Amino acid sequence: MARHLITSALPYINGIKHLGNLVGSQLPADLYARYLRARGHEVMFICATDEHGTPAELAAAKTGEAVADYCARMHGVQTTLADGFGLSFDHYGRSSSDRNRALTQHFAGRLADQGYIREVVEKQVYSHADNRFLPDRYIEGTCPNCGYDKARGDQCENCTKQLDPTDLINPRSAISGSTDLEVRETKHLYLRQSALKGDIAAWIDGKADWPILTTSIARKWLNDGDGLQDRGITRDLDWGVPVKRGDADWPGMEGKVFYVWFDAPIEYIGATAEWADATGADDAAWRRWWRLDQGAEDVTYTQFMGKDNVPFHTLSFPATLIGSGEPWKMVDYIKSFNYLTYQGGQFSTSQGRGVFMDHALEILPADYWRWWLLSHAPESGDSEFTWENFQQSVNKDLADVLGNFVSRITKFCRAKFGEAVPEGPAWAPPNWP
Ligand SMILES: [Zn+2]
Repeated sequence: MARHLITSALPYINGIKHLGNLVGSQLPADLYARYLRARGHEVMFICATDEHGTPAELAAAKTGEAVADYCARMHGVQTTLADGFGLSFDHYGRSSSDRNRALTQHFAGRLADQGYIREVVEKQVYSHADNRFLPDRYIEGTCPNCGYDKARGDQCENCTKQLDPTDLINPRSAISGSTDLEVRETKHLYLRQSALKGDIAAWIDGKADWPILTTSIARKWLNDGDGLQDRGITRDLDWGVPVKRGDADWPGMEGKVFYVWFDAPIEYIGATAEWADATGADDAAWRRWWRLDQGAEDVTYTQFMGKDNVPFHTLSFPATLIGSGEPWKMVDYIKSFNYLTYQGGQFSTSQGRGVFMDHALEILPADYWRWWLLSHAPESGDSEFTWENFQQSVNKDLADVLGNFVSRITKFCRAKFGEAVPEGPAWAPPNWP
């Protein structure tokens, strides 16, 4: 039997996820994990809440909670909903865990030792009205790439381009809406992704079996005009993993935290270590999934994610792993998805548009949703959720076709076997090729 490591992209902690989030990562990952387990393989299926960065701080500010309390509460809410949808994670971790903090500081130290970190005095947007720097999502404006007027300081959700706050045209504070902004200098650490471009390109070139959606996005960011740029891995925020070089302080970086894009994917490893802690296993138990020198050489690793997450998983996280100079397990296959749209428009968490996981379970049992979403998964292009299609599909395919099939079988069994289930051999995994 083979060993399979499966990870789903980490859902942000800020609020209930919608059906588009679910079908873009967690649900197909769950299907694959269940399939492989049914085949008798050894499976480690990992997911976690992504708890750092500005979305968590902004959401906590809205509810009036301390950000740590907000994250703890929302992790509980998301865990309950994941259980409700039957998502069979071996562990559902938290990127704010002690494990992830130690691993993130470890990787930063290794990258610095290998010469892949440089210190940069960069210009950040400072808001006079808010009395603070405005990194990432604290700032909004017009995307310089596509013209979308609600682009965030870290990424344009319309064209997926990764951005820096100073790239935005007509910037404004996401906290106060103020345009009384000033560019100030602040020191940050940059990951020298450009120095790893050759290694990453060679690695992607070896993945001929990957979906075109995955490799086309990766090659676009690897080779387009601005290509693979060095990227800041630290922020002027309070909430996050404190910047350290392994166990040691990092002179000049006091009071800063790692940028969420840097620590979030490391939580795939962190959550597996959390699984070991939660089950009373030792470090060797999680390392045999992640370290090629400690048992992971026969692991097949598959990642599931929406297309907006592909750049981080094909370029940035591999840069972290390769740059560490340590034998970490790299992903073997990235399954990426297009978007599920809602009634002709986008699902939107910020605007509350679409069907959300809690609402869905109040309407119908999870299997209706699981079946519809997986049978309409946006693989070759975007697919659309409409209530009309959902109703018709459930009535026709589930009630009529499947219901009729089950009804005929049970009637046949009742007629032929006298209402008693016949004895059979013990169940064993089928010996498929
Ligand atoms: Zn854009």
